Amino acid sequence: MSSPVVTLVAPGSPAEAAGLLAGDEVLRLNGQVPRDIIEWRFLVDEADVDIDLRRGNVELSIEISKREGEPLGVEVESALFDRVRTCDNHCEFCFIYQLPKGLRKSLYLKDDDYRLSFLYGNFTTLTRFTEADLERVITERLSPLNVSIHATDPDIRSRMLRNPRGGMSLRWLRALLDNGITVNGQIVVCPGVNDGAILDDTLAGVLDQYPELASVACVPLGLSKFNAESAMRMHTIDEANTVVDTVHDWQDIFLTVLGRRMVFAADEYYLMTGRPFPQAETYDGFDLHEDGIGMARTFAMEFTGLVDAPVGPQSGFFAWVDGAPAAGYRAPRNPAGDTGMRGCAVGASESGAVLLRPRASAPIGILTGEFGAQVLQPLIASLGRDDVRVIAVPNEFFGGNTAVTGLMVGEDIARVLSAEPMSHRYLLPDVCLSEGRFLDGTTLDSLPRSVEVVPTNGIALRQALEVGR
Ligand code: SF4
Repeated sequence: MSSPVVTLVAPGSPAEAAGLLAGDEVLRLNGQVPRDIIEWRFLVDEADVDIDLRRGNVELSIEISKREGEPLGVEVESALFDRVRTCDNHCEFCFIYQLPKGLRKSLYLKDDDYRLSFLYGNFTTLTRFTEADLERVITERLSPLNVSIHATDPDIRSRMLRNPRGGMSLRWLRALLDNGITVNGQIVVCPGVNDGAILDDTLAGVLDQYPELASVACVPLGLSKFNAESAMRMHTIDEANTVVDTVHDWQDIFLTVLGRRMVFAADEYYLMTGRPFPQAETYDGFDLHEDGIGMARTFAMEFTGLVDAPVGPQSGFFAWVDGAPAAGYRAPRNPAGDTGMRGCAVGASESGAVLLRPRASAPIGILTGEFGAQVLQPLIASLGRDDVRVIAVPNEFFGGNTAVTGLMVGEDIARVLSAEPMSHRYLLPDVCLSEGRFLDGTTLDSLPRSVEVVPTNGIALRQALEVGR
């Protein structure tokens, strides 16, 4: 267990008035040692907050009086102060096993922690869930949670997770639903393993055993060239079509029985098969947007002005923690996400090349993954502008079927950019950056051209294309 360390004290906040400083290590709040940012939030919601802290080698106590529920005005460096609960499954399709060696350590962490599901929308299999966890989820209303189902047949689920507890652990899903917790489910569809009749059986199991689920997303397995599992392979087009057909058939059944569609196929399935994306109104509110369901449709709605705010839902906890500073413990994934478009510095790249800042009116290249290019091409064509083009970045780093924009890496982007004119503007979606780094560990400074990082939504892209006009 490590104590939360203050990374930022908001100007004018109760914490600043009381003398809290960045670097302070918070030992206790009102005499309690918080395990995570969820407990922290409950404790600092009080009107009177007594903080025991360590500053250098000195231990101090600070008393803060404020309005009940008023934000303290403090950010801390991590969301969990005790250990992340790691996963004890060994799924054949796990993308973490398919990462090359030598990437930053945090990428290899296999978490299976319901708190990260609540905080960030991560999926948990519940194989390490306990009675005490259930009690906490219920009393603190840690809802919604995201649960990986994969198969409702206990034996098949155990086999897929390579964990004998895989089948039994879905009893916790039943318990969560019994206690009114909102749960979104996910099925990672692996061809030859849980597609076809097994997918049918799983969706029948969902209807029969877990009809209170808020939604179920069917997503294809991700496969990189570093995959060592011989049974894992990409879907054929026919198999992908069958998944889409199965999902559509079951949507009709769920709609008849439950009055909602419940199950959705990931955008990738429509891109793989060349089928049109479903109409916006059939996505039942785009609750699974972050899981790649309906993203193409919402992007088009944003880009064409059908909505005036990004559609992507906020993650549960941070949607209701009004005023809680997101940076710091939220581990910001998108460094430009809160500031609109942010250009990278002009100057020398790591290679020493001088980067020119292009004119605002310069021709524009939009960098995106190969799937993203399929979505963007028609939208850009509809603008009728010959100064804007979509640049697909083939993913050679991961190879396999990794055509999604979020897995673009600096090495591939640099290769593509080096063949592009220096004087053009290049827009890069922020979804491929985490704390300023690409998955391969490189940064914007390593790119041979100046790029502008744009939040990954249609409104931000449209605004970026208007700059200089
Ligand atoms: S549960 Fe998730 S993290 Fe764990 S092995 Fe399976 S895919 Fe990987």
